[in-house]
Order: sequence, then C-alpha cells, then structure tokens
Amino acid sequence: MFNSLSDRLTSTFKNLRTRGRLSEADIDATVREIRRALLDADVAVPVVREFTATVRERALSAEVSGALNPAQQVVKIVNEELVDVLGGATRPLTLAKTPPTVIMLAGLQGAGKTTLAGKLAHALKGQGHTPLLVAADLQRPNAVTQLSVVAERAGVPVFAPHPGNTSDADDPAADAPLIGDPVGVARDGVTYARERQHDVVIVDTAGRLGVDEVLMRQAADIRAAVNPDEVLFVIDAMIGQDAVNTAKAFAEGVDFTGVVLSKLDGDARGGAALSVAKVTGRPIMFASTGEKLTDFEVFHPDRMASRILD
Ligand code: GDP
Repeated sequence: MFNSLSDRLTSTFKNLRTRGRLSEADIDATVREIRRALLDADVAVPVVREFTATVRERALSAEVSGALNPAQQVVKIVNEELVDVLGGATRPLTLAKTPPTVIMLAGLQGAGKTTLAGKLAHALKGQGHTPLLVAADLQRPNAVTQLSVVAERAGVPVFAPHPGNTSDADDPAADAPLIGDPVGVARDGVTYARERQHDVVIVDTAGRLGVDEVLMRQAADIRAAVNPDEVLFVIDAMIGQDAVNTAKAFAEGVDFTGVVLSKLDGDARGGAALSVAKVTGRPIMFASTGEKLTDFEVFHPDRMASRILD
C-alpha cells in the first residue's frame, strides 16, 4: 500500500532538495506534482484540493528558519498535513465506565468485519479483557458459522443464534433466540455479556454488496438497541474511489465513531485510507493487514505519514 504514492512524493522532494531558495513558481510546480500523485493514488478530489491548497499557502508563508532549508520545510509541511488528513492524533478505543463496553461493527459484505471481530477480540483478550463475540449477521447462512470459527481461533466465546436451542447452560447459544432477528440477537448478546461478566462485547452485523436502505436501517436499529460505546466502520482499503461514497453513506446511516481500514497489506493505491477520515470527520482507529489474527494494529496517523514520506 502507498508504494507508488510514496515513490512519487519522494522523488518530488528530491528535486527540491537540490535548490536553495524556493520561488513561488517552484512551490507551485511542487504542489502540482503532489496533486497529481494524490489523484493517481485515488485520493478523493475534494480532499486533494484542500490538501494542496493548504500546503501551498503554508509553503509560501513559511518563515525561513535556521534549522531547515526551504525544501525540508516543504517536506515538514506535507508531513504535518498528511497527519491531519489521516485524522491527527491516535484515537484509542473508548471503554465504558460501567462494563460491558459494546463495540458494533458495520460495513459492506467482504469488508473484513468478521475477520476484524476475531482480531479485536484476540488483542483485547491479550490485554486482560474478557470479550464476547455476538453474531448479529443473520443475512448469510455462513456468517454465524464463520464468526464461530473466528471466535474459536481467538479463544473467545461467541453468542450466536441457532435453530433448536440447546438446554446446556454453558453453551452461549442456548440462550440465543432463533435465527431471523438480528436486533434481538444483538440486544440479548449484550444482556448475556452483562450477566456473565464479559467486559467487552463485539457485535458483528450484516453487510451487503452495496449500500442499501434495508441494511442501513437494520444497522441503525441494532445501534439503537445496544447503545454501543464504539461503532467501527470497516472498509476495504482496496475499493478505491468508491470508499468515499460508501463511508459517507455509513456515516449518515449508522453514525459510526471510528474507521478500521482492512486489507492494508494489499497493493491498492491507498486513496481510501487517505480520504476517509477527512471526508467523514471520523478517526481511523485500527488497520487490518492480513488474514492472520495478529495482522492487526492500532492506527497511528503520524507513523503512517512518515511511512508514506520515507
Ligand atoms: P465480512 O463480510 O465483512 O465479515 O468480511 P470477512 O471478514 O469475511 O472478510 C472477507 C475476506 O477478506 C476473507 O477472505 C478474509 O480472509 C479477507 N480479509 C479480511 N481482512 C483482511 C486483511 O486485512 N487482509 C487480507 N489480505 N485479507 C483480509
């Protein structure tokens, strides 16, 4: 991810480094190259426009300081603006004052929600939490099974509906309602977690191939029913320009609190990553970087910016 953007920006700055003073024309030429590099990386047009305007303005009015030459100053400005576009500061997970903390996952089908549920549960368990996964994706017959597999791999229990409840009190599924009512499953899952002293509940919800009203209403209903501390919108970083419209639709539809970028290990151009925080005003909180449980990291805007400009 970002390799091509990174190369383009680096070579732009290399040209600058050979110059002493920068004229307005030099700055304009540089800003033009940055604009082209960002557009080619699929960054959303309004984000590119604002980014380049700010860089230009700041570069023109930058004080000549003793420590940095003009070219270094431009690099510093671009770095700071990249951090800003990526959401500014690292945003940690909000934990409820009174457990359980409820985390709801939303996003399109195939975005990586179920995979993320396992990764997040695994990471939280490693920090001493006692997470419970709740299978409120009843849209695909396989989704509940898939979440159960993920839960087992992460070593955490799952609250899942299944036809023909068992009478085994230790089986979380025994308490779940029959398949068909995702809002009820989500609500009962949280109640179950409270009763069994699970301090974090991760609710997996259904995704569709495209944004649709029924999906959005269902997600909003689940949100209203479980009153989550965090609603994480999982987005496939490979989807390019579509990322912006999808993210906007979910921001309106479920009012998510943070973004998770998945498939950052892919060779996509990175535009989604660079657009989503700015366009929605919500921070990127985590990155998913592969299919393994441990391919997961807290997202640090400053480190990502440095990686791009490395
Ligand atoms: P969901 O429909 O949103 O629950 O998506 P899934 O969690 O089922 O993920 C869809 C596919 O993407 C699966 O094949 C996952 O193994 C794969 N996947 C999920 N996250 C990542 C990631 O970070 N990197 C890669 N390479 N694949 C991922």
